[in-house]
Amino acid sequence: MSDPGNRTTDSGPALGDMSVEEFRRHGHQIVNWISDYFENIEKLPVLAQIEPGELKAALPSSPPPQGEAMEAILADVDRLIVPALTHWSHPSFFAYFATSTSAPGIFGELLSAAFDVKGMLWRTSPASTELEEVVLDWLRQMMGLDAGLTGFVYDTASVSSMHAIAAAREGVELRIREEGMSGRADLPLLRVYASEQAHSSIEKAIITLGLGQRGLRKIPTDAEFRMEAKALGEAIEEDKREGFLPFCVVATVGTTSTSSIDPVRAIVEICKQHTMWLHVDAAYAGSAAVVPELRHILDGCERADSFVVNPHKWLFTPFDLSVLYCRHMDLLRRAFSLVPEYLRTPEQEKVRSGSDYGIQLGRRFRALKLWMIIRYFGHEGLAARIREHCRLARLFASWVDAAPEWELSAPLPFALVCFRACPQVDGENNEERARQLDALNEAIMHGVNGTGDAFLSHTKLNDKLVLRLSIGNIRTTEKHVRRVWELLNEQLALLC
Ligand code: PLP
Repeated sequence: MSDPGNRTTDSGPALGDMSVEEFRRHGHQIVNWISDYFENIEKLPVLAQIEPGELKAALPSSPPPQGEAMEAILADVDRLIVPALTHWSHPSFFAYFATSTSAPGIFGELLSAAFDVKGMLWRTSPASTELEEVVLDWLRQMMGLDAGLTGFVYDTASVSSMHAIAAAREGVELRIREEGMSGRADLPLLRVYASEQAHSSIEKAIITLGLGQRGLRKIPTDAEFRMEAKALGEAIEEDKREGFLPFCVVATVGTTSTSSIDPVRAIVEICKQHTMWLHVDAAYAGSAAVVPELRHILDGCERADSFVVNPHKWLFTPFDLSVLYCRHMDLLRRAFSLVPEYLRTPEQEKVRSGSDYGIQLGRRFRALKLWMIIRYFGHEGLAARIREHCRLARLFASWVDAAPEWELSAPLPFALVCFRACPQVDGENNEERARQLDALNEAIMHGVNGTGDAFLSHTKLNDKLVLRLSIGNIRTTEKHVRRVWELLNEQLALLC
């Protein structure tokens, strides 16, 4: 009699996993499918052209009682899932921060899913623990960061920054880990400082850590959207006079709206003067420091207490992988380590256990994909790609600059261009004309996005609606940048 556990039918075996033969067959099919996807991706609309609720309505509302054939499942990926995707891997994806996966990164994800490691303790994941330490030190060297900074992988920058601020708070020695913050008359108002242009994840971290939104003081920025160091110093002095406890500053290298760079060297001096923790959010732009001639963007960061960079933004790493570099791993550990008896191991004093440094117990084997990416492209290969993105952004900016009906809205230190259409518009007063220009730019953006040929996003700068073109996809070439410029001009001609 055959073993039912090994019996493979159209709808899978009665027990156990898919047979190895079937896995091999479907695995080849899926790799072929992905190859075709990349080969033909430009035929797909970048922005999903569906209405809200359309996919939900096309899916069964209850699960299948019996297993289904893999062929049927894959056919539905084509039929239902692909049309409902916004294609982040499309070379004309220019919205938000354009990012991309890469072939070695996909292979790393595939292997990681097969190993299915839970990186909580060294013994549950020696390879993951030790590879992470090595590969993050490679990345640190590639960015020219100080050797006193130790790397640790989280999923996203939001989570990395939250852990950094928790470690900073642990450093104030107010027994917050033990006694919490609520109901304590002995605690002053703890304050964190970040610029008006800082990412919303900093405010969310403050909320999550129980510091309250009033625990974050937003510092004004200058005409180029960089934190005013002088205003920071004054705000800290003022708060101290009021009896508050300033304990952490978050500087940004590469802000979300414009990619501006806060004056980290001046900010670090202020932090040292007041014995405060400096966390640098370089989630987007930190990767650019792997380009030797761009290393200066991290000027001052060698003295930071912590620093976050997202390889999943601009280092061709499939989402998600964020790295927190921290100078005080002891404080990070003190904030989060809790070892119940069932997790105690004989080697725990000699090794790093991932669960000691964050709220998660198990952690994915994310370092594998980054290791494969760095090995496959090499430091020079990665730098060449980022350098090319910056060149393409400057090229696009030169067209904007030369066109009388368009204007640049912010400097471009990296590969993000902020710009807007500014033709003559009729209007009774300045306010009315400003409203019309905002509406025009918004209509241009929706018009371009509606073609499916490119995808842009926007922000507001000095109360004006501004378009953002971010170049960061590994497949983007000059041809795609030329095409989006044509599309923008077509829309402008149509609307004016
Ligand atoms: N910090 C900056 C400067 C960002 O631009 C972003 C996202 O774009 C984040 C943090 C948040 O990144 P994540 O999605 O990894 O949490």
